[in-house]
Amino acid sequence: MASRQCQICQEAQFKYKCPSCLLPYCSLACFKKHKENPCQKLTPQEETISMVLPERAFEVDETNWILGSDQLQLIAQSKAIRDALNDIELQKLVYKIDSCSNPEEELDKAMEREGFPQFTEMILSVVRSKNQTLQQPNT
Ligand SMILES: [Zn+2]
Ligand SMILES: [Zn+2]
Repeated sequence: MASRQCQICQEAQFKYKCPSCLLPYCSLACFKKHKENPCQKLTPQEETISMVLPERAFEVDETNWILGSDQLQLIAQSKAIRDALNDIELQKLVYKIDSCSNPEEELDKAMEREGFPQFTEMILSVVRSKNQTLQQPNT
């Protein structure tokens, strides 16, 4: 690397990079200055995920694994899950699992990826908490 200079103040050496555009900066002050103008997120063209779902029959043996619309809504509302899905690699992974002919095998592979077990755990905990409230006896 030729220069390790902060691209904002051009004075100090940079220590951090903007999570969106990877512009190097030295301090929070410089980062705030940088964020005064919206920066371009680095998303190469091939990263764009088409959301066309494959034609595949829903094969679920256990009906309680099918999520109700209220559960899906809870998942959609969960900030943690939405944050996790900002990760383009995770998006690709989920899409891959969803679109391949052998989802279980892909899921097994995905579980070895850093962060993925935590992500599924987040979804499961949302789903479980919903189930628990449903199962509470209404006396
Ligand atoms: Zn700086
Ligand atoms: Zn930036």
